[in-house]
Amino acid sequence: EAKATGKNTYSVYQEEMGRHLSARIQMEKHLRNAIQQNELYLMYQPKIDLGNGKVVGVEALLRWRNPKLGLVPPNVFIKIAEDSRMIIPISEWVIQQTILQLQAWQKTEYSHLSIAVNISSNQFSHENFINDLAQKLDVAGLPRRLLEIELTESTVMTNADENIKRLQLLRHKGFDLAVDDFGTGYSSLSYLKRFPLTILKIDKSFVDGLPKDDEDISISQAIIQLAHSLEIKVVAEGIETIQQLEFLQQQKCEYGQGYFISRPLEINNLHPWLETHGNNFYQSDTYLNGLN
Ligand code: C2E
Ligand code: MG
Ligand code: MG
Ligand code: MG
Repeated sequence: EAKATGKNTYSVYQEEMGRHLSARIQMEKHLRNAIQQNELYLMYQPKIDLGNGKVVGVEALLRWRNPKLGLVPPNVFIKIAEDSRMIIPISEWVIQQTILQLQAWQKTEYSHLSIAVNISSNQFSHENFINDLAQKLDVAGLPRRLLEIELTESTVMTNADENIKRLQLLRHKGFDLAVDDFGTGYSSLSYLKRFPLTILKIDKSFVDGLPKDDEDISISQAIIQLAHSLEIKVVAEGIETIQQLEFLQQQKCEYGQGYFISRPLEINNLHPWLETHGNNFYQSDTYLNGLN
């Protein structure tokens, strides 16, 4: 009886595993064709200067829509892409699209806007990544400061000593360097001092409880003060309310992103958004209506 149950449990487990595995293999198979089937696209989330309300740039966020699988969240497919090395061609596609967009803006009133791209650790540790990137921007005739590199805290902290050299090269080449999801990983403060970073992004999980939760207040204030003492600027991600925005503004956090300002937008929606919010978010209806 017990044995039968055990066996039964085992086979149910095995079946689960099998389903899970084949779903993954299916996804991987579809992902392999995603670029050539035109299934990838970028969304752009505006980033504002919290001091004056001006839009300073956008973050490029990758989307994958497959006819069979629907819209697959990046947290799911990027992991698969990383494990299967598909992240390299996919990332190249992201960078290529980003450069095309920056180029398209150069002849317009949006020529000052930067685009931040998320870079995976296996992409970052790729031998020629930095030199290739610098060359691509040169060929495109774009100043390097327009393309901002976002690396997660764990990417930066894994092989920290080796990464310091890469980060120095990136800075030397004129790229801005942001550490994403800051506060969620393991960060040695002494390393932070040695890393040539320009921007820290406070993780959304610490913004959520603002302006009421005591722990989130302490953590976000500590991150801002630490960054400023190292002459690093701060971006708060995941700002969903005007109260969070105002708290961060009072703490002299330089930049902000989040649904309260704008959700990530497709390029066709970004341009109209910039028309109505671009000169100054603090003079837009979105902000002024939030005040009441
Ligand atoms: P991330 O770089 O930390 O991006 C922020 C995520 O938070 C995005 O999710 C964004 O849509 C979401 N977000 C922004 N504001 C708010 C808000 O106010 N409330 C809430 N609830 N969410 C907000 P998304 O687009 O699903 O991306 C998830 C992660 O996938 C990104 O986290 C990034 O690590 C990764 N990712 C996205 N695009 C790329 C890419 O092109 N390459 C690589 N390597 N990773 C990417
Ligand atoms: Mg990011
Ligand atoms: Mg982030
Ligand atoms: Mg995050």
